[in-house]
Amino acid sequence: MTALAERIAIVTGGSRGIGRGIALELARQGATVIVNYNSNSSAADEVVDLIKAAGSQAMAFKADVSTEEGANDLIKAATDTYGKLDILVNNAGTTRDNLIMMMKPEEFDTVIQTNLRSTWLCSKAAVRTMMRKRYGRIINVTSISGIMGNAGQTNYSASKAGIIGFTKSLAREVASRSITVNAVAPGFVLTDLTKDLPAEITDQLNKNIPLGRWGTIEDVAHAVQFLASEHSSYITGHVLVVDGGLAM
Ligand code: NAP
Repeated sequence: MTALAERIAIVTGGSRGIGRGIALELARQGATVIVNYNSNSSAADEVVDLIKAAGSQAMAFKADVSTEEGANDLIKAATDTYGKLDILVNNAGTTRDNLIMMMKPEEFDTVIQTNLRSTWLCSKAAVRTMMRKRYGRIINVTSISGIMGNAGQTNYSASKAGIIGFTKSLAREVASRSITVNAVAPGFVLTDLTKDLPAEITDQLNKNIPLGRWGTIEDVAHAVQFLASEHSSYITGHVLVVDGGLAM
């Protein structure tokens, strides 16, 4: 038996980057995974094919999780298809970096809605079904930008700090039903989101990371897998920082 056998999991933004790695890792541990995406269906289909080829179950599901309809449809897909939802990973996220003097209100709103509102909406819908089963694992992907702040990311840092406050409040609300709510805060990981950072910034970052390298997608996926498993059943409201020591 693998650690997550018979568990049903949703990974929002599971089609690319960190979410893709989380979806593959949860499936490797035996979970059935719903791979959510917003626009890139071929990327989501590729993740589903990889999971199935390795012997687990998966399905892709298109939904814009920053909308109430999208979030509700996504959670309903799990309960309609598999009868329950055990694990929700709120990973979908985006950036619109700019110094505050240049940042447009739309850039603030888009980032708050994609990162924070989606986490609130999906969790709200998931908690309803998890409470009935008296079991659940919610893992929210935040960032060290929400802990340390980052110039040029007032919108993104606010969304990620918001996710941390949300995680702790929801953890208190649902603990009596054996639902745990935790967050993972990655440092810098090479994905589509970070690939265009200028070399002078990445060189400077590397000097400041005690472990001397960027994180890998697998570094983050393993932390999420732990928080999704039975081994973390006495941990809730926690922010697990996965950053090579950068934020300590
Ligand atoms: P990424 O490579 O850009 O992937 C983003 C994923 O989110 C894609 O699967 C995308 O799907 C999905 N997505 C975006 N908006 C969505 C929406 N409204 N509804 C549903 N899905 C949506 O990003 P990443 O680097 O893997 O980041 C994943 C998470 O880790 C984010 O929350 C990010 O803030 C966080 N994080 C990343 C880093 C880093 O260094 N990369 C560091 C700290 C935290 P489509 O392609 O279909 O749009």
